[in-house]
Amino acid sequence: MSDFMIQIIEDDEITDLDADQNNDLYWKVAIVDDDQGVHDVTRLALSGVKILGRKLEFICAMSGKEGADLLTNHPDCAVVLLDVVMETSDAGLLLADTIRNQLKMENVQIILRTGQPGYCPEEEVITRYEINDYKTKNELTRDKLFTSLATAIRSYSQLVALNESKKGLRNVIQASASLMKERSVHAFANGVLQQINALFNLSAQGMFCVSQTPSKGPAELIDGPNNHYFVVATSPQFNNFYGKELQDVQRGQAVTIANKTLHKKDNIIEKEFCSLYLSTPSGWEGVVVINSPFNLTDLDEELLKLFCFNVSLGLENAKFFTHLNDAAFFDSLTGLYNRNGFIENAPRIAKLAKRNLSLFIVDIDYFHEIIESLGFEFGNLVLASFTSSLNRDFLSDGIIARLHSDVFALLLPDTQWLYRDITKQCSKPFMVNNNSLRLGVTVGAANCDIRVEKLDIELLLRHAEIALKVAKEHQRGVGQLFEAKFEDDKRAHLDILADLRTGLVKQELFMVLQPKVSMSRGDVVGYEALIRWEHPVKGMISPNAFIPIAEQSGLYFDIDMYVLRKSFEVIEKNPQICKPISVNISANSLHHCDFISEVKQIMTEKNFNIEQIEIEVTENALVRSDMAIKHLRDLKALGFVLCLDDFGAGYSSLSYLLKLPLDVIKIDRTFVTHIEKGTKALAVLEGMLQICQNLDMRVVVEGVETQEQADLLMSLNADIAQGFLYYKPLTIAQVLDDAL
Ligand code: C2E
Ligand code: CA
Ligand code: CA
Repeated sequence: MSDFMIQIIEDDEITDLDADQNNDLYWKVAIVDDDQGVHDVTRLALSGVKILGRKLEFICAMSGKEGADLLTNHPDCAVVLLDVVMETSDAGLLLADTIRNQLKMENVQIILRTGQPGYCPEEEVITRYEINDYKTKNELTRDKLFTSLATAIRSYSQLVALNESKKGLRNVIQASASLMKERSVHAFANGVLQQINALFNLSAQGMFCVSQTPSKGPAELIDGPNNHYFVVATSPQFNNFYGKELQDVQRGQAVTIANKTLHKKDNIIEKEFCSLYLSTPSGWEGVVVINSPFNLTDLDEELLKLFCFNVSLGLENAKFFTHLNDAAFFDSLTGLYNRNGFIENAPRIAKLAKRNLSLFIVDIDYFHEIIESLGFEFGNLVLASFTSSLNRDFLSDGIIARLHSDVFALLLPDTQWLYRDITKQCSKPFMVNNNSLRLGVTVGAANCDIRVEKLDIELLLRHAEIALKVAKEHQRGVGQLFEAKFEDDKRAHLDILADLRTGLVKQELFMVLQPKVSMSRGDVVGYEALIRWEHPVKGMISPNAFIPIAEQSGLYFDIDMYVLRKSFEVIEKNPQICKPISVNISANSLHHCDFISEVKQIMTEKNFNIEQIEIEVTENALVRSDMAIKHLRDLKALGFVLCLDDFGAGYSSLSYLLKLPLDVIKIDRTFVTHIEKGTKALAVLEGMLQICQNLDMRVVVEGVETQEQADLLMSLNADIAQGFLYYKPLTIAQVLDDAL
């Protein structure tokens, strides 16, 4: 035995290369042999030896059966020195079979030892039991044993590392697969923190930060420099960072290393912290900071990179999903909810209400004019500043949305605000580009008493929208609360509109003429052409009922052109008829881009003096745009006589009268109705007549119903009148019969 003791150790690897680090680590070597002497010799021969930096730990069994028990308890055994013949002649081979097939120890190296010098196990045996080496017992010298063991242990450790990384790879793939399913960035980031702990066997604290905007990718996603990073997930130690911008959280090692990582765009592994850098295909950047020493031996760097890559892809998914989600529920210009987001969040607000939910739709008046004159970009600035005011005034009470272009919605629980207050508040001046700007708004309001009805937000929105529409027609600049009758009105409107379309085709519409008379002489001096509609079921429908509806639908143009054509026709066919005939042209027709060409078309069909046709337009039609005024001038140039209808009923501005090529002013009926009542109305009328005479304009007074009115008007030097006192509108046949 002394033989073993004096063997010179030649192999370098006997020297411990890494003694300090792995002092406590052992390679387990099992000796399974029924000869106690072999146990002793082996231990002795290898005492004090270190292989790959580790000492050897011997575990022993005296039979195949004991060997099986022993290895069951030591699955981390690196090498088995296995005697073939023990309790039976093949006990060693049976144990080899157990090790591989039952205990499933794939990595352990089996060195078969046999007593018979000439015996060499058959090839088939070696393959079947995955025997790694065999030796005769004569070869139990220190150096031979050492060489076999060193080879076996190296193989074992390589196999372990390979299997570990296989397992690691499997874990990374599994971890990434489960992360891929996450739709919210927050849940995803939390998942990553958990998975890192699981993968690296840690119970570490950490935080996850992600940039707000991507640096590249679909152009529409880019809306600013990519320098805002938000903490989207934290473990308890970092909880007070959660939701904050990275640059706003308290400075510390974690924040420093996160910034460093983002700057370097690479993982940083330091003593106490490890920080992983993530970059997604669209250029979102993330950083995961783990407060723990990181032992990369368990998982090599390549796997870490693979993990980061997979996590980046998952982050892209989650970010993109969130972005889509945001686009679906938020308005990108103002950051407010859009209609969907508003509807989605309404139930949350409804829960806060004890009595009542109020919905206000706020429409900025003349916003298109702002854009037309000051540009689209300025319009956006106005919307952004207006949004800030809304947020300041209402966000703490409820939710705010931008429904579309210049239309906003507020949903407020149990609020004191009434639509008039909202109008007042929203009409206060605010700053845009260092300039103070004041907007007019119109508000449509609807309420839901949640004590008696469940919130139906779509219905409430519809009601508020109807109220807004009514407000814009009658209460622009103020507002309107929804009333149930509006909806009936709307239904009736739609019915009329449908019937009007067919009515036009079926020629249910026809023209009548109301004479204008000289009050002093009593004779007819012209006619106003007025449209009539004989509905097959409902009978006569007043133009006051269908003209405004036609104005909203586009049918107004057909009606106006029909009346114009008919008037030409009547004059052409009946040259004896008293002229001029005045034709009403609606505000929308005057704006219509084909208006003048259509009028010219009608003119070429006829052949007579155009001055015999007077065109009546209202003030409302003219204050709207330059286009209307241009068309008015074109009409004048074509030779038509121009009449301003309903003067005094709208937003009268004398400067318009001076600017426009008007020939006749028609004073609105309401003035005439009121002159009997008080001297003030009379004084106003007198003033108006005076101005018209000074401007050398002819005056027609509408709605004269009584002789008293006629007398008063005549005393003010008014002469031409139109009114029931003289004639109601007549059919063409009546006019021609009477030969008026
Ligand atoms: P308008 O242009 O101011 O027409 C005068 C309206 O006053 C006519 O009502 C006429 O019948 C009515 N009227 C005349 N004298 C008196 C009176 O002494 N007392 C009262 N209470 N009413 C009087 P109508 O025909 O019902 O038309 C109403 C409105 O419908 C018109 O007001 C006009 O704005 C519109 N309209 C009528 N026909 C047409 C048309 O062919 N084209 C367009 N665009 N609008 C039309
Ligand atoms: Ca008229
Ligand atoms: Ca009128």
